[in-house]
Amino acid sequence: MNIPLAVATLLLSLPPAVTLRARPSTVESKSAQRAALVITSEPEIIVNGSPCLFRVKSRRALRSLYGEWQGRSIFFNFDERDGAWYGFAGAPLDAGVGRSRLTLEAVTASGGRLSYVHPVRIELAHYRTAAISVASQYTEPDAEAMARIEEGQGLKKEAFERVTPHRLWSGNFEAPVDSRTTGEFGTRRTFNHKVQSVHQGLDFRAETGTPVGAMNSGVVILAREMFYEGGFVVIDHGQGLLTLYMHLSEIKVREGDSVEKRQTIGLSGGTGRATAPHLHVGVRWQGIYIDPAVLLTLPLP
Ligand SMILES: [Zn+2]
Repeated sequence: MNIPLAVATLLLSLPPAVTLRARPSTVESKSAQRAALVITSEPEIIVNGSPCLFRVKSRRALRSLYGEWQGRSIFFNFDERDGAWYGFAGAPLDAGVGRSRLTLEAVTASGGRLSYVHPVRIELAHYRTAAISVASQYTEPDAEAMARIEEGQGLKKEAFERVTPHRLWSGNFEAPVDSRTTGEFGTRRTFNHKVQSVHQGLDFRAETGTPVGAMNSGVVILAREMFYEGGFVVIDHGQGLLTLYMHLSEIKVREGDSVEKRQTIGLSGGTGRATAPHLHVGVRWQGIYIDPAVLLTLPLP
């Protein structure tokens, strides 16, 4: 869904601050200028690889609010209790550091259209490096393994491309297991001194057979065995937000199932490319991986 900006917009010069006061375009009417927006983000400092929640408070009643940031759609929902609009977003790991543009399109209660542009600063995250040893089939896959890898890539591509425009999640995301984390998001890893990749998820300590709970409500879009992922479940939470659960020893849901927050979706294990039993959790938002640890700290409406 792409809504082009109908009106020329005014880019304000602001320090790398958190609270951004926006004014509508100078070509708007005087009444529109009274509809000043106040935008805040959580977390306050956004780094590459981080999810974030934009909160928009408007003095003027709005019928709808839609945003775009770094080529991705932000679907805003109105929260009655707070009287503010909330939109979930994320910055990719390879996001350019510095100023970026958040564009907003609002439709007022009377049907008028307003456009805004806000500067949002992206800071540089400091991620670690690590060396990992795995069975050689995972760094030098044979022909049979390559066929499974390609099949898995096709299935993931299809699942990941779908964006459900409405929101299926509600409230905070919760940890899938009650244990400490052992592997951070963003770590640059070298497998068997050969294959390099970035760890695009968060690892939790979990012995084989530990029940794994859905981090929020949604619909299961993948539930099957795959080469690298092992027992693999993907839940679509709507608005392009997905959670991924890997290395499961047992899968307890089927593709197409609706799941509630905390519902057991499987049992943890060490299947696929895993050095030992643990639970790997990934979070995707509109084609990028974002840090699950930050998602778990976000206070969500
Ligand atoms: Zn992992």
